Amino acid sequence: MGQDTIAAVASGMTASGIGIIRISGPEAFFILSKVFRPRHEADVTAYKTNTIHYGHIVRRDGETEEVLDECLVMIMRAPHTYTTEDTVEINTHGGPYVMQRVLEHVLANGARCAEPGEFTRRAFLGGRIDLTEAEAVMDVISAKSGDALKSSLMQLSGSVRNVITGLREAIMDELAFIEAAIDDPEHYDLTGYGEQLSDHLLPVEEKLRALSSTFGEGKMIREGILTVIIGKPNAGKSSLMNALTGEDRAIVTDIEGTTRDILEDQVRIGGLLLRVIDTAGIRDARDRIEQIGIGRARDYADRADLILALFDSARPIDDNDREILGLIRGRRSIILLNKSDLHTVCTPEMLRAFLAETASDAGTPVNAEIPILQISAKEGSGLSELEQAIRSMFFSGNLRFNEEAVITNARHNQSITQALTSISLVRKSIEEGLPEDFYSIDLMDAYRELGNIIGEEVGDDLINTIFSKFCMGK
Ligand code: GDP
Repeated sequence: MGQDTIAAVASGMTASGIGIIRISGPEAFFILSKVFRPRHEADVTAYKTNTIHYGHIVRRDGETEEVLDECLVMIMRAPHTYTTEDTVEINTHGGPYVMQRVLEHVLANGARCAEPGEFTRRAFLGGRIDLTEAEAVMDVISAKSGDALKSSLMQLSGSVRNVITGLREAIMDELAFIEAAIDDPEHYDLTGYGEQLSDHLLPVEEKLRALSSTFGEGKMIREGILTVIIGKPNAGKSSLMNALTGEDRAIVTDIEGTTRDILEDQVRIGGLLLRVIDTAGIRDARDRIEQIGIGRARDYADRADLILALFDSARPIDDNDREILGLIRGRRSIILLNKSDLHTVCTPEMLRAFLAETASDAGTPVNAEIPILQISAKEGSGLSELEQAIRSMFFSGNLRFNEEAVITNARHNQSITQALTSISLVRKSIEEGLPEDFYSIDLMDAYRELGNIIGEEVGDDLINTIFSKFCMGK
């Protein structure tokens, strides 16, 4: 490939037990020999692959040597390495300063500082992984729930690549047949081919549609289910959040592209990730309607994938609850009867009856299927039932991605949709009785579009964009 040798800190730049400086490229072992003083085997450039060696990173100046750190070095020889190139990983102590000094020393001895994602980019350019697998690497790193991790690992092991490659082969077979028949009409007969092609395209379209239909779920697996928790004051909204987050309270982020004052908490419930819209504002308001924040809650509810409507089962149903029941009508929601550890005043049956009654008041049909669960935020009970209810609402009740590829990436979904459009144009040409080379044009478009997904037909711009989102050292 004629690449230079790159280096970066591959572990996080925070104080930790071990820090890893990774070097990849043709000069990796030569550079190591200049910075590493081994305890034993002296000829560093002759180290066998997949071996680990103990020693020190030293800065040599004439006769004097300054020790930068004690370390272990791992030797991985091309081509069976992450990048497909000669690779060294130096395990130093994990202090940001010590790692920085070792890295600077490696750079001073001939390596270039790697750009974000450059190691993985080399793995891709070296043909070891395709683009979906490269993207999956980043997804594994940023996975925030069990489901997200599982789907990323599946993609990393080639689940998306395999399906896409199979579909491209099917399309290529047709393209090859048309080309051959046009070139050699004596041996290949195109009579009735339109119908045959139409049949052959059916399973391809079916598979593409099936893949695309996983995208909604895939996106929620990866990014989390946008959730709003509503309930009158003291119903237990904060307690539920605390029960869900526990020690796990994750990142608080601004949601891109929405109002600045909306924040979200990311919480895990079992293998699922919920992005819970922070409704702190709702709790603070004064007057009754404002207390449950109907106005604001409605805004939030409009944006959310899921509403968790919280009721206090130790208190009778009141007007506040009635407002809330009005809010969740027609929305994907789950009713939670909180404080199940206390004496129950409001039962699920009462709530259902109340729902039916308010529905007839408002003349809007109620969703009779709406799950009503009894939980205790205080004791943390009922949460696994809640997880199951969310799963069956959003993921057809089972982890579909155990059996099939799931599309979690908008880029992939866009290409799949585009490929489907091209195939529909082929159908149109068949119906209109156009000559076969018309089929080829659109088939070729579909083939290329699917190639984008796995990185077979992509330009530098896209590659740069994708890898620039990676973290340093990966
Ligand atoms: P919010 O106003 O909806 O956020 O309600 P909080 O979470 O602040 O809870 C209000 C009160 O109810 C607090 O005193 C909580 O300790 C109590 N509480 C919340 N959930 C439960 C529960 O499941 N069982 C019991 N016994 N008390 C609860």
